Amino acid sequence: MTIRLSSYVCGNWNPGEGAGAPLYNPATDAVLAEATTRGIDMGAVLAHARREGVPALGALSFGQRAQLLKDLAKLFHTNREELLDLAQQNGGNTRGDAKFDVDGAIGTLAAYAESGAKLGERCGGRTALADGDFIQLTRSPRFVGQHLYQRRPGVAVQVNAFNFPAWGTFEKVAVAFLAGVPVISKPATATALLTWRMTELMAASGKLPAGAFQLICGSAGDLLDRLGPMDHLAFTGSAATGNMLRGGAALLRNSVRVNVEADSLNALALGPDVEEGSDLWQAALRTVQTDMTQKTGQKCTAIRRVLVPADRIGAFGEALADRLASVKVGDPLAPAEQGVTMGPVATKAQQRDVLAGLRKLAEEADLICGSLEALEPCGAGVGCFVAPTVLAARAGAQAVHDLEVFGPACTLIGYGGGAAEAAELLGRGQGSLVSTAVSDDRGWLEGVVTGAGPWLGRLQLLSSKIADQALAPGMVLPSLVHGGPGRAGGGEELGGERGLLFYMQRTAIQADQVVLKKILGME
Ligand code: NAP
Repeated sequence: MTIRLSSYVCGNWNPGEGAGAPLYNPATDAVLAEATTRGIDMGAVLAHARREGVPALGALSFGQRAQLLKDLAKLFHTNREELLDLAQQNGGNTRGDAKFDVDGAIGTLAAYAESGAKLGERCGGRTALADGDFIQLTRSPRFVGQHLYQRRPGVAVQVNAFNFPAWGTFEKVAVAFLAGVPVISKPATATALLTWRMTELMAASGKLPAGAFQLICGSAGDLLDRLGPMDHLAFTGSAATGNMLRGGAALLRNSVRVNVEADSLNALALGPDVEEGSDLWQAALRTVQTDMTQKTGQKCTAIRRVLVPADRIGAFGEALADRLASVKVGDPLAPAEQGVTMGPVATKAQQRDVLAGLRKLAEEADLICGSLEALEPCGAGVGCFVAPTVLAARAGAQAVHDLEVFGPACTLIGYGGGAAEAAELLGRGQGSLVSTAVSDDRGWLEGVVTGAGPWLGRLQLLSSKIADQALAPGMVLPSLVHGGPGRAGGGEELGGERGLLFYMQRTAIQADQVVLKKILGME
């Protein structure tokens, strides 16, 4: 039976009017659910967040907000099996992929609960944060300036991409809730089933303060046109949508705070010292294989470009193709004996886009393994399947630095091996979320950090001593910032307490330091 995904707005479930957009199982093409927001008054949704959510969250201390996050993490953990199942059905996820998303949500809520508890201990009932120390402004030591961060009493509209309906939603919610800002969350319609169920669990738990969370299943309608000076838009998705949304008249007119997490041509650069077959060589291959196949390559942080010293590019391509030959593509919910290790991409549109992108890249590159055509999956099934595909760029190729193919694909690029050239090639992505430099040559690594660092939100240096402990670079961590300059959107999320600042206003207060000490609880 098709489920109708109602929106959770104004404290009630609203199914919208008329037929909804279908949500599919991308492995079988079966329709699972439908959603529409037709008939929902977005003005009333925003008013509800302002009237109920802003005061309710504002009244909580950091410690109390942290407890809310802890309760939500526990709630989702208790219902984890059901959530994993939904992620598999609507996202085409393998069980490992589903865990990556659902456990990512639980882990991020738990991490922010911990940060919040520490903040609570530090601040007691206060929620204003001092930024730096007193600055003496005149000859009198009593008259000082102090920068102060306080919650902005507005609403967070959070628009998410299709690939992480759990993690993407709740990494944003964790930060906004800890800052004390109510959320109106809009998942990508195609994979909203999981977010919808998580919202049902939250609403039924009785843990949510009134107006703190609303969910929109379907179009956002005119919601963004209604945002005001204290509101926020946190967007994750394609650069094209992000750019269109941030140019909206109301957002510009009211200087609405906007954070964009968009496309990214993440890279891995193999240093000139990395010998064929060495441990580092294997670690690099493993990293690329994981990024190509985990979530069927639909991770904003996945490696799209692999820089390999030109004399080793053939060997690297062969070794990668060997590894990918063992990947079994099919329905992740097929019987275990089929041994499926990679699922479909999330939608038919996504499959069309990936194949079109691969064909475009192939105009300037040679196919090493995989296919430029839709894949017949193993076992029975139709669905949106694509083969893990590796290309090797020909000299002067440009599309590889411009076009994000959001699927199980990467392109090898031969280069001279120098740090400056590696950094220049990393930077040609025009701003990326994350990249990896693989080497034991500290001078080379330093050259990459110096040359490429400003083009990247995060940079992993993979050297022998940490190769077996390093986290996969595709894994976004709550304690480190996530975001990247330029085409990656210019945004920054997470990063522990740093993430809260997006939802806070910094005000420079000029005053008698005795007065300020009282305000800051320093006496
Ligand atoms: P998308 O097509 O740009 O959609 C993203 C979100 O924007 C969806 O929720 C979509 O809703 C919504 N949207 C579209 N038009 C809108 C409008 N006029 N008003 C309000 N919302 C609107 O992106 P996607 O295909 O879901 O995601 C894939 C892309 O996201 C990739 O390029 C990937 O690199 C990027 N991504 C980036 C990050 C990151 O952290 N940097 C993370 C994940 C993904 P509907 O679904 O209802 O259209």
